[in-house]
Amino acid sequence: MAAQEPVLSDPAVCIRKADWLIAWNGAEGHVYRRDGDVAWVGDRLVHVGGPYRGPVEREISGAGCLVMPGVINIHCHPSQTPLFRGFVEEFGNPRLFYSGRQRFRQSFLADGPAQRAAARYGLAEMLAAGTTSIVDLSHAYEGWLDLLAESGLRVWAAPMFRSARWWTDTGQEIKYDWTADLGDAAFAEAKTVMDEADRHPCRRLSSLVSPAQVDTCTSDLLVASAVFARETGRPLHTHAAQSYAEFNGMARRNTRTPIEWLHDLGFLGDTTVLGHAVFTDAHPWLHWPTRRDLRLLAETGTTVAHCPTVFARDGTLLHSLSAYLAAGVRIALGTDTHPQNLLEEMRMAETLARVADGPSHAIDTARLFHAATIEAARVLGRSDLGRLATGAKADLVVCDVARPEMRPVRDPLRSLVYGAADRAVRDVFVDGRPVVTNGVVQTIDWPQAAERLEAEQARIAADIAALDGIAPLALPLRS
Ligand SMILES: [Zn+2]
Repeated sequence: MAAQEPVLSDPAVCIRKADWLIAWNGAEGHVYRRDGDVAWVGDRLVHVGGPYRGPVEREISGAGCLVMPGVINIHCHPSQTPLFRGFVEEFGNPRLFYSGRQRFRQSFLADGPAQRAAARYGLAEMLAAGTTSIVDLSHAYEGWLDLLAESGLRVWAAPMFRSARWWTDTGQEIKYDWTADLGDAAFAEAKTVMDEADRHPCRRLSSLVSPAQVDTCTSDLLVASAVFARETGRPLHTHAAQSYAEFNGMARRNTRTPIEWLHDLGFLGDTTVLGHAVFTDAHPWLHWPTRRDLRLLAETGTTVAHCPTVFARDGTLLHSLSAYLAAGVRIALGTDTHPQNLLEEMRMAETLARVADGPSHAIDTARLFHAATIEAARVLGRSDLGRLATGAKADLVVCDVARPEMRPVRDPLRSLVYGAADRAVRDVFVDGRPVVTNGVVQTIDWPQAAERLEAEQARIAADIAALDGIAPLALPLRS
């Protein structure tokens, strides 16, 4: 069913005279406006800018506020990563090198109740940080879609499927355990879940085709995924070029880089997202003689899901964000790991771009905000998301610029990204519906979700004898 078009004479919800707006100005991109109104009828914005003179059913004062579009998390795993809090943050821990980390991952198996607890926590965490749309990369679990709907978020459900399970003993080489049917049954199951997401009565769910990793899927499965995505009009995603071990293994298997391999299979394209394309042939650790990968990504219009925090924790860096952008590669932002805070991820992305490049201003806050809004919306096929513009979805965030962490408010976006982050997020609306009010998530009881997450983590941890040896506490526990 087509969305109901708002009638301008219908009464609107209106934020009056916001101190600051981040409005969409077409070719110019996002711009600041001062003392403007934002109004919406139902799920659509009907006014962004000067005084709104139409009928109003509810008025919200914009004094002390920044109103901006909600950010879009292009790559996250809410049903997994919250469970790992307190275990995996420190690569510097000598007992948590690759083998220990792998032993941890293999033993810390999340079952349905644990996945649901993690997701409930993770979805609330993203809402509280001003996120209005996400791509949820999960292995399907019971109750998944209903939980996504209940969260109030706009979600692309991406049920992951693959031909093989992977592990590594050393971090230098990846090993695989191939299934008998090479992923056919898992792909068929994922198709069913994708259809269910698209048909979900909440109408905020869509789906995305996601063979899990480039190296865990056969070429047949990757090709079939790409064909299916294009036939059904869905975006496409896989993890690729994530580690030097994966790069080298794929180079041995196919005599070309993972990016070249995906290009030759017809997987790349302007509706394709790659998490995370860090180890391209341009990465200095690889000493690879060619320099084709960035050009292939750019020429095909492929989007890279850039998630700097999870790589930084492993001592790994994109080389470099500004080089990707200069080559014309499209960049969107995701969190991948916890915390699922895209505002902090923007800060990390810009800071690490400078670390990689030296003192360069090729990257700036405007480009990162564009990545977190417009670029993500574009690859998801949605010109009505990621922007405050008449006719766009009423997915917006109200930040409190009067908070000390936001001041001085010379430049509210910089104050938000480099200072306050989620602490300034006051209200969040998705489809015009309040999902965070006065900093409190309305759709999920977050404190209760945190208690449940803690209990589920403790339940799984209790069954793993050597866990404290693998991931000891930051400080010794003494009586
Ligand atoms: Zn991921």
